Amino acid sequence: MDSLQELVQEAQHAIEAAQSLESLEQVRVVYLGKKSQFTDLMKTLGQLDPAERPQAGARINTAREQVAVLLEERRLYLDQLERQQKLASEVVDVTLPGRREAPGTLHPVRRVLERIENMFRQAGFDVADGPEVEDDFHNFEALNIPAHHPARAMHDTFYFDAHTLLRTHTSPVQIRTMEQGKPPFRIICPGRVYRCDSDMTHSPMFHQVEGLLVDEDVSFADLKGVIADFLARYFEQEVAVRFRPSYFPFTEPSAEIDVACVHCQGHGCRVCKQTGWLEIGGCGMVHPRVLQHGRVDPERYSGFAFGMGVERLAMLSYSVQDLRLFFENDIRFLRQFA
Ligand SMILES: [Zn+2]
Repeated sequence: MDSLQELVQEAQHAIEAAQSLESLEQVRVVYLGKKSQFTDLMKTLGQLDPAERPQAGARINTAREQVAVLLEERRLYLDQLERQQKLASEVVDVTLPGRREAPGTLHPVRRVLERIENMFRQAGFDVADGPEVEDDFHNFEALNIPAHHPARAMHDTFYFDAHTLLRTHTSPVQIRTMEQGKPPFRIICPGRVYRCDSDMTHSPMFHQVEGLLVDEDVSFADLKGVIADFLARYFEQEVAVRFRPSYFPFTEPSAEIDVACVHCQGHGCRVCKQTGWLEIGGCGMVHPRVLQHGRVDPERYSGFAFGMGVERLAMLSYSVQDLRLFFENDIRFLRQFA
C-alpha cells in the first residue's frame, strides 16, 4: 500500500510530461487500462485479511480517481493548446484582396433564342417543346413527307434505326401540339435540330424556331403580318420583307422569307452577296393533310407555319461570318457578348 502513493506520483510525472493528446492517451492506457498496476493491486486484495479488504480497496480507488482527475485536467489543457496552435497556423488575412470568379454570360445563341421567345410571347404565342429523338412518323410522315419522298434526301438525317432519328427540324412539334390539344393553336417551338452537314454556314447541330398558328379564317396575310412585325422588332428597324414562292411538303402555298439586307439597306454588300436580300427562313399555309395528321378538321380550320434558323439570325445581328464560331466556345469569342 505504500507503493500506491509512489504510483500516483509516477503517473503524475508521466501525465505532465505528455505533450500531445496522443501521448496522453498512451499514459492513460498504462495507468488506468486493463493491464495497469491499479488492476494488479485490485487482484491482490483477495490475499488480504477480509477485515482489511474494504479499506484497502477504497484507498486503491481513491488513488485511481486522483490519476483520472489529473489525466482529465491535462487533456483539457492540451486540447485547448492544440486548438490555439491550429488557429494561429490557419489564420486568414482578411486584408488580402479576394480571388474573384469570372462571371459567366449567356451564350449568344441562347441570348437570341430568349429574345425571340419574349417577342413571340408578347404577341400571344406559347412556347412549346418536343423530343430531339423523334420517330419517323412525327418527323416525316405526318408532315406529308412519306417514305421515298424526294424531300427526305434533302434532310441528311441521322438515323438510329429505320424508325428512330434525330429530328431534322422543329416541325414535328407542330404535330405533337395538335395531337395533344384542340384549336386554336398559337405556338413557337425553339430547339435543337440535327443534320449530317458541316461547313462555314452549316453545323450538324443547330437551332430553329418553329411557329404555328391554327384557327378559323387564318390567311396568308396574317402570316405576312406576323413575320414582318417580328423581323422589324428583331432587327430594331423598319425592314422590307419579301416572300418568294417555294415548295415544302407540309405547307401549301409555301414561301421563302427574305429580309432587305440589314448591313447595306438593300444596296448590296458582302453579307448579302450583292443581292440586297438575306434569307431568313421558310413559311406557308399548313397543308390540309398535316392538319388531318394533327387531328384538326381542315374544312373548319386553317393555319400558317414558319421556321427560321436561330444561328442565321444571330450571325446577322452580331455580324458573325462563320457559324462554327458559335460552337467552338472559344472564351475570347464568347466574352464579346458579355
Ligand atoms: Zn447587304
